[in-house]
Amino acid sequence: MDSAVLDAMQTSLRGPVVGPQSPEYGPARQVYNAMIDKRPAAVVRCSDAADVREAVGFIRDNGLELAVRGGGHSGPGLCLVDGGVTVDLSPMRWVRVDPGARTAQVGGGSRLGDLDHATHGFGLATPTGIVSMTGVGGLTLGGGHGYLTRKYGLTIDNLLAADVVLADGSYVTASETEHPDLFWALRGGGGNFGIVTSFTYRLHPVDTVGVGITVWPVDRTHEVLTWYRDFLPQASEDVYGFFNLFSVPPGPPFPEELHGQKVCGVVWCHTGALDRTEDVLRVVGDPAPPAFHFTAPMPYDALQSMFDELIPSGYQWYWRGDLFDRVPDAAVDVHLKYGEALPTPLSLMHLYPVDAAAHRVGREDTAWSYRDAVWSGVFAGIDPDPANAGTLREWCVDYWEEMHPHSMGGTYVNFMGQDEQQGRVRATYRDHYDRLAQVKRTYDPHNLFHANQNIEPAAP
Ligand code: FAD
Repeated sequence: MDSAVLDAMQTSLRGPVVGPQSPEYGPARQVYNAMIDKRPAAVVRCSDAADVREAVGFIRDNGLELAVRGGGHSGPGLCLVDGGVTVDLSPMRWVRVDPGARTAQVGGGSRLGDLDHATHGFGLATPTGIVSMTGVGGLTLGGGHGYLTRKYGLTIDNLLAADVVLADGSYVTASETEHPDLFWALRGGGGNFGIVTSFTYRLHPVDTVGVGITVWPVDRTHEVLTWYRDFLPQASEDVYGFFNLFSVPPGPPFPEELHGQKVCGVVWCHTGALDRTEDVLRVVGDPAPPAFHFTAPMPYDALQSMFDELIPSGYQWYWRGDLFDRVPDAAVDVHLKYGEALPTPLSLMHLYPVDAAAHRVGREDTAWSYRDAVWSGVFAGIDPDPANAGTLREWCVDYWEEMHPHSMGGTYVNFMGQDEQQGRVRATYRDHYDRLAQVKRTYDPHNLFHANQNIEPAAP
């Protein structure tokens, strides 16, 4: 893009327009996943909704390609397009908590950690994901699940309103009563419908929670996973535990003899009475004696950033996902096989519960089409060394291909990987796809917002 165009854009914006000649260009095109190496023509760092409107108008009227950056955490690096312009919301990190009404309004470029920190000060929280650097934007628009999901639902189940800049530059609030079709689509349909400059969430009383980590040797995966698949869905909604296959990190709280060992495990979050956590989790001895079991009370915002240091920005990531309503014995065998073959110390498989409170929301109430799913699974090859990229991909794709027949057919849209096909988007939305395509036609008929898991506008 010639520099006159960049200059013209800059004159109408308060935030900086970062082009390839700028010393800021390198950091501006960096995303969480270092496997992504895209070169946008410019990154527009928007300071507020007015900047977002200006940027959208400029990009649209000049026939440029548009991408939107929230936290920059999507696996495929959807916030960048080669030769396109990124509307970067990262300067828009702010949170306003209303403790009386138990709501929080959050800037569209905020991270989960911004939200959790601000609400925790009032003993309040809303369900989000488990790594604090993740953007609220992408996570919320895709659905959002985490430690509070069994108790309080998905992130979208707690979304009360969103302020949105539309493709034609207009600015609207979407809620149950204003633009309800748009509000329905935003709750799971991704960034397809506009740029959300602020989200308003319902909050719940959550303060210190009971945290637990239990691990068993990976060769006990059969006993542990068959126990877990039966135990978790019938457990109280105060008990959340995601199953995982991983290698024990070399540090506390794990004893030295376990460092580097491949294990299966469960990370627990207990929102019931703190003095009951240990009792409630006494069952972990049932499948097999754990190699390590730890419980402790922890402030909720500390739990939310517990894994941050383990997986900083800048590593190679290759991931895929699927949704599951059961874990048959044949699937357990596949998990054992790939758990024993984890290709690098940080690679992992997680099964995140999406049942209990998330099942109480009607299937037609939001765009999330899998209210019957019990787990959202992710298979992630992770390593700092770019030389291992091929190995990560191979392990992940092989694992996913063997597991996919045991899945419900679609995935959580935020767990779609680098090179998945459009058919996966349809499988993910099932019969909601056509309704989403109608809403897309209303709000973005020319598909300006297509750097996402794209829903094409329905034909007129
Ligand atoms: P970005 O790459 O900035 O954006 C992703 C997509 O959303 C893009 O299409 C972008 O255009 C769009 N978008 C972002 N913000 C806006 C906005 N304000 N308005 C319009 N469109 C927008 N998910 C969970 O549910 N639970 C988890 O526990 C969880 N853990 C994770 C842990 C890690 C380490 C990582 C890397 C991801 C995790 N995820 C989790 C997945 C996460 O939800 C997705 O990666 C999500 O896309 C991240 O959003 P982002 O805003 O950071 O990403």
